[in-house]
Formats: sequence, C-alpha cells, structure tokens
Amino acid sequence: MQLLAFLKYNKIEAEQLDLSIDLIDAVLSKEFLSEVLQSGSILSNGRSAAKGFVSKSGEYINLIEPVKQFLRGGDNTLSQRICTRNLLPEGNRFKQIEDLEWWFGSMGKTDMARHLATLFILDIADFIRENVCPHFGVTKYAERIALSLSTFTLLEEELNKEPNLVDRLMVSLLHKKVELCKPKIIGFTVPFPGNLYAALRCGKYLKENYPEIKIVIGGGYINTELRLLSDTSIFNYTDYIIFDDGERPLLRLVQYENDRRTPLIKTMINLNGEVRYFDGIDDDLKREEIPTPDYDGIEVGKYLSLMELPNPTHSLWSNGFWNKMQLARGCYWAKCAFCDTSLPYIANYQSHEASTIVDSMEMIIKQTGSSGFHFIDEAAPPALLRKLSEEIVKRGLTVSWWTNIRFEKSFTGELCQLMAKSGCIALTGGLEVASNRLLALMNKGVTVEQAAISCKNMQDAGIMVHTYLMYGFPTQTLQETIDSLEVVRQLFVNGLIQSGFWHRYAMTCHSPSGKSPEKFDVKRVSLKPNSFANNEVPYIENVKYDYERVGKGLEKSIYNYMHGVGLDEHVSEWFDCKVPPPIIPPNFIAMAIGCKRKR
Ligand code: SF4
Repeated sequence: MQLLAFLKYNKIEAEQLDLSIDLIDAVLSKEFLSEVLQSGSILSNGRSAAKGFVSKSGEYINLIEPVKQFLRGGDNTLSQRICTRNLLPEGNRFKQIEDLEWWFGSMGKTDMARHLATLFILDIADFIRENVCPHFGVTKYAERIALSLSTFTLLEEELNKEPNLVDRLMVSLLHKKVELCKPKIIGFTVPFPGNLYAALRCGKYLKENYPEIKIVIGGGYINTELRLLSDTSIFNYTDYIIFDDGERPLLRLVQYENDRRTPLIKTMINLNGEVRYFDGIDDDLKREEIPTPDYDGIEVGKYLSLMELPNPTHSLWSNGFWNKMQLARGCYWAKCAFCDTSLPYIANYQSHEASTIVDSMEMIIKQTGSSGFHFIDEAAPPALLRKLSEEIVKRGLTVSWWTNIRFEKSFTGELCQLMAKSGCIALTGGLEVASNRLLALMNKGVTVEQAAISCKNMQDAGIMVHTYLMYGFPTQTLQETIDSLEVVRQLFVNGLIQSGFWHRYAMTCHSPSGKSPEKFDVKRVSLKPNSFANNEVPYIENVKYDYERVGKGLEKSIYNYMHGVGLDEHVSEWFDCKVPPPIIPPNFIAMAIGCKRKR
C-alpha cells in the first residue's frame, strides 16, 4: 500500500494485489475441494486429517462457502446453527475445545461460532497440507523451508519439483492479473520466511512464461537475511533484490528499466555470474514525500475473521481486515541488545505529525470502508500516541486501533484513558525475559515493576495487553527462566495481560549482542558467511539448560494461562524435566502495582 502510493505519487502507473488472500479464497472453495477429491492426490497413508475429511467430504464441500461468508461477517444468522455443534463436521482441531460455555457464556454466540468456524477452516487447511501441498497454511505458507537457510539448495529442490495443485492455483491467479494489467515489472514483498517460497514459485512461472517481465523482491525477510548473499541461484527466479524501505530503490529501478544510465540504489543484481550490490546514497524520505497508503486493489471483503483460540487479544492478528499504517518509521528507542538496531528499519527514526496521520486515517476509511487500524510500528512513541489521541478526539472520529509499544513509565493512567477514549483497544509490547537483571543487560530501558504499572494503567482504561516474552538470553539461568514464568503467571492472575508468546532468543548479526557478544559473556563462532541467508549467528555460551524441554513447558503454560487454566498451580507443573521452584515472592506483582487486582 505504501509503495503503491509512493509510485503513483511519482507518476508511475502501478497496481497491487494481495495474492495470498486470493489464494486462500480459491483454495477454500467448493470447486477446489471437489477438484482435490477427484484428482486422486489424497495420500493413502491413513493420516487422520485425510480420513476425517474424506469420510465427510460432502459436508465440507457444502459448508465451505457459507462458513467463509460467515467469517467475513456477511451472514451472522449462521452463528446459532454453528453453536449447536450439529452443523459443522468436527475434525482433529475440535479436540482442543475445553469449555465453550465458560469462555463465551450464553451471550457470546457470534464469537463462539467464529471460533468453531475457524476450527472447521483449520481442519481443511490441515487436510490440504497433509495431502496436497506441504507448504500450505491459512496464516503462513512454506514457513518451514525458508527458516535458517544457509544455502539455496533446499529451496531450489522444492522449486524444481512439479508444482502441486495449490502452486498451480496460485500461478493461475497471478496469470489472470498479468493478462489484465500487462505489467513491465512485478514486485513481490517477502516480509516473513513463509512468503519466500511463494514469491519464488511465482518468479519461476513468470520467467518461464513472461520472460520480458522484470521481477523484483524485497521486504522484511530480505532485509534481515539476504544482505550477505553470494550465491546467484536466486536470480533464476528474480531479477532484482531491493533492501530497506524500498520506495526510492523501487523508483530508481523503474527509471533504470527505461534508462540504463540511472544508478540503482540499495539493489542487488546478478552481474556476469556474481552478486553485485549497489548501495548508493539514499537520504531518508522527507515527510511530504511519504503519501497516505493506497488500498486500491485490496479486496477488504475477502478477509476472514478467524479466532483460533478463544482469546480476544490473541485473535487480533487474524481478526479480519485492519487498515495498516505506520505512525513513525524506525524505533525511537533503538537500543535493545537482541534487536536489529543497526538496520535502517529500526535505526532511522522519523515520525509523522499527528494531524497528518489523522488526515491519512480519514482518507483510508473512505477508501476501505473500515475504521479499524493496526499501526504496525516497531514501538509507537508515547508522546506521539498522546498527540494522535488528542487529534482523533478533537475531530470526533470513531475508530478502533492497536499498536506495539514499550512498557515505559510514560503510559500513565491519564494517557491510557485518553488513548482508550480515542479508540485504542489493545497494545502489544515486549516484556522479554521478565527479569530486572536481564532487562538491564539487554538495555530494554524498563523494569518488571514499571511494566506491571503500565499494564495496570492500560487495563484500567479497558485496553487489552499482549506481551512478547523471551527465554535463552545469554547468561540467563534456569532459575531466572522459572522466575520469569512466575512473573508472567502473576501478571495473568492480576489481570494485567490477556495473552503472550514465548520466543527463544536468537543472536542476529544486526543486533548489539551479535556485534559485541563478549559483552554478554558469550563467544561467537566465527564461520565464513553462508552463501544464502545470514541473520542468526551461532555462539558458545557458558550457561546452558535443556532449551527444548523448557521451551515446551513455557509454551504449554502460556497456552493454558490464555485459557484461564492452571493459574493457581505451581509453575514447575508445566515442565517434564526437573526445574527449581521460583524465588520470586508470590505477591511480587501485586506489590509492584500497589494492590491485588482481579482478573
Ligand atoms: S526491541 Fe522494540 S523497543 Fe527495542 S529497539 Fe527493537 S523495536 Fe525498539
């Protein structure tokens, strides 16, 4: 949306397409499911998803369109029938259901139906993944192949296989768009590892069928992983790789295609069998050069409102369509030891004026018809959030919004009330290792006590909170990991957070910990750069415990806490290995916020 707006602003004719939404829509259709059943591609290895699907295929096929319609908010009348649990066939995903009445009560029928309909969709997605396309997912595609790819070989092997039914469907959707628009250049954004396979599969199709079209890829995954690329094989699927914000590099590239004397910037090409990177000077774009994102071509009505877990905060990410916008580029803090602080997407901070942002919000609402905004900032600055909220309230604009923040002391009760008044419904933020020693070591700039107070102010204002959590940070002991789980348990008990997610720490070459590992008491293993992806770096540490088993325990605990289960149990109950008891006092969080708060 941002790139489209920028290209149009610079008088370049351009169009956009959300191929992933179109693909999901086409896969989850009566026609495609019937085709799969007739194609004989179902593996006869007795996998459970296949057995369940095949025995009830008629029901799945008849119900898929009405369920999709319901999940798009188009036919709410179906909710009562879905909740009877006599309408939808129930496959493996339904085994996770515990107590629906407890979660949704007798009034929350629409949400309960949304949860059940999501499980129905996920059962179908499991079936497709097991029998048709191992890379398929409703929220991710081919993520596993592209995670930590030191060489291109594995991905190339996949790309050289015969395209499966889903691959063929994807390129047929692309083909239609190409025939309609007759583009000279096609760009694919690759924000996550899960997007790489699909982008290159499309690139392969274009190279074979439309050799005159130039292909370019960019986005978050490219920016962090491919900066040291030396293997040229990927250029069999793309002509250009562009880095960082992309606006200027893309504009130059378009000009370069018309006039080869135009210097490329932040662009990689294959020059006579060698990877060549053109850095060039790329000043930050001035505010006035960054137009309002353009949603032309995005079919808002096609997005599904999925609810995988009966947890309102957790479901925000998959909850239908949100207008995406950035309040500021980069991070105003840019100091955390595990973060890519040396890369422009974090380091180059530049904010917009609140009035300009609200002007853009009004324009986007007119374009999409939706008043929900997800501000996709790395960390939205509290001072800007204050001005933004004041501006929204002043204009009497009715919107809902959520964003990512740092749990810092500026989030006072008064600011949180103002933000809630302006439409803030949820905030997400990193509490990371939830240990004061480690938060200081990683330069997070917050303490656990401060974060708890911020969360209390948010909750008192009716704003939901999701936390990103981390384990395995250098020097973090098993005792500290158990203590951090105890902190998280107490945050749930006191109703300060609604959801969370544990990540295993990874040392990246763009982070302060990757650049100066000795400061974190670990030793980087020095290896030659990989020929393909280079982001995570191996290191030797002094403190070690069974990360795999401890990670599983942490995952299990948070899953249960999000369902309100096991909050009174001792934290060691979640592990299948011996762990020490926590030494954090049981009233640590209640003391920090000055009271005991009810969930
Ligand atoms: S982790 Fe978040 S707050 Fe820390 S530097 Fe990165 S973006 Fe900023």
